[in-house]
Amino acid sequence: MAANKTRVIVVGGGVTGVGIIRDLALRKIDAILIEQGDLGHGASSRFHGLLHSGARYALNDPAAAKECLEENLILKKIAASCIENTGGLYLQHELDDDSYLEDWQKGCLEAGILTKEISAKEVLKNEPFLSKKIKRAFLVPDATIDGSRLVWGNVDHAIKYEAKVFTYSKLDKIIIENNQVVGAEIVNTLTGERTYWECTIIINAAGSWADQVASLAGLELDLVKNKGTLLVFNQRFTSRVLNRLRRPSDGDIIVPHNTVTILGTTSVNIDNPDRAEPTSEEVDTLLSAGQELIPNIHSLRILRAYAGVRPLLFDMQHGEEQDGRNISRDFIMIDHGVRDSLAGLISLVGGKLTTYRLMAEKTVDYVANLLGERKPCLTKDVPLIEQEGAFHSGRKFSTYLEKYGEKGALLEQYLKDSPEKEAILCECENVSYAEVELVASWDSTNNLDDLRRKTRIGMGTCQGLYCSFRSLGTAWENLKKKKEKPLVQLITFLENRYKGQKSVLWESQLRENELT
Ligand SMILES: Cc1cc2nc3c(=O)[nH]c(=O)nc-3n(C[C@H](O)[C@H](O)[C@H](O)COP(=O)(O)OP(=O)(O)OC[C@H]3O[C@@H](n4cnc5c(N)ncnc54)[C@H](O)[C@@H]3O)c2cc1C
Repeated sequence: MAANKTRVIVVGGGVTGVGIIRDLALRKIDAILIEQGDLGHGASSRFHGLLHSGARYALNDPAAAKECLEENLILKKIAASCIENTGGLYLQHELDDDSYLEDWQKGCLEAGILTKEISAKEVLKNEPFLSKKIKRAFLVPDATIDGSRLVWGNVDHAIKYEAKVFTYSKLDKIIIENNQVVGAEIVNTLTGERTYWECTIIINAAGSWADQVASLAGLELDLVKNKGTLLVFNQRFTSRVLNRLRRPSDGDIIVPHNTVTILGTTSVNIDNPDRAEPTSEEVDTLLSAGQELIPNIHSLRILRAYAGVRPLLFDMQHGEEQDGRNISRDFIMIDHGVRDSLAGLISLVGGKLTTYRLMAEKTVDYVANLLGERKPCLTKDVPLIEQEGAFHSGRKFSTYLEKYGEKGALLEQYLKDSPEKEAILCECENVSYAEVELVASWDSTNNLDDLRRKTRIGMGTCQGLYCSFRSLGTAWENLKKKKEKPLVQLITFLENRYKGQKSVLWESQLRENELT
């Protein structure tokens, strides 16, 4: 069989994998990344959107709290286009325990997290939806982060430094000779076509599927797959990230994100990450918990619910008693050469999106050492968008650069030639005809759902009811060149949107939606 050659194959196009491929590319280590679907289709787009300040971990995990704070500051510098510096509030409700507050304050102080108390009266002035039962409030340097932009920002930057990235490409077989990984068989999930790559190292960054990847080499990973459900409301009813000041529990974080607000999350262990769907019971649990902070939450319009899966490593010492919240969110790197005598396979489990860059740095330091490379990590200082003046001290330079990174320049050029295409196609998310046409023409856009993740069509109030049809018509010429027929793309798009809506609709709304 004719095989391509590379030194490292990174499996998984979530934030962990893309952080690693960018780090490898900046160190000039030859590598490819493969992702079985579109980039960021796992937990990296199904999370809360919170760039942690570390305050959430200040009490139980001081090391993680410090790491979050350091990475929060680094990402605000190198990934400014993906972050909205909203700030965060920790809120103590009348029902919450004073002793927790004291310990939390001590933890923040030790981790170096600056907190500033403001009066409940002042908080209510800026956050009118909040409960009057808030006793005390503290400002922290939390922010919000766009997972999709972050993933694409890392990948575009890695490609600029000569990495290769293949979406809809699944690792199907690990080729082993004399207890050493020597290659991989990859299947295109749209066409079924198979390719072969020789390599020295495979990095398993497959998130909740990491055990399936390890099993391709006949190895076991004891993963706990912990599902978290989140609700999306059709408006921003808070200006800052709100955290409940109590031991972490269901429904205690509210995040303003782009045009919407996200409330989450729950914690339930499941078997299959491909079947992680929100349930009506979880929606009720979240609304009951959220009501304590936002009393009229039941009268606010919910757009949809979605669920993400946290891969956590089963801790044998605690056995069966473990539920997701008790297991550390720490990141663990397993060198199967050391653990299982299979050289060349490294598995990564756990972690947080906030600390993805640091996880990548530690992993690539280790892998570079195995490969005999000595180049230092550069990801801390080199921004995702290098175009001069793009982001000066976090100031926005151009909307398209902010949204699409350096590819935004292509849109600006496109609009110079066809200025009429700046007209808005998707009113909910302010997406222009030019964006839909141009993004649909990119090779990395394989269908309407890929177009949604990049442009945000279908993410707002109409949930695709209007913009999906308009997008199909506008981008027809480009969409019909893709592997799936355009009408199949439309059906899949609408079915996927409906999946998120059915657990939040009832009675006449549900009947109406079933009919449309
Ligand atoms: C409900 C929830 C809320 C969260 N909220 C936050 C938050 O607010 N802030 C924060 O910092 N962190 C948060 N996290 C954690 C954060 O989302 C994750 O740590 C992070 O997204 C994990 O990224 P990943 O790349 O490891 O995994 P994923 O994003 O799941 O990526 C793994 C990828 O591997 C691919 N893959 C699997 N098998 C194969 C194969 N055989 N071949 C090719 N590709 C394959 C999958 O398709 C997938 O895209 C949250 C997590 C959850 C579940």
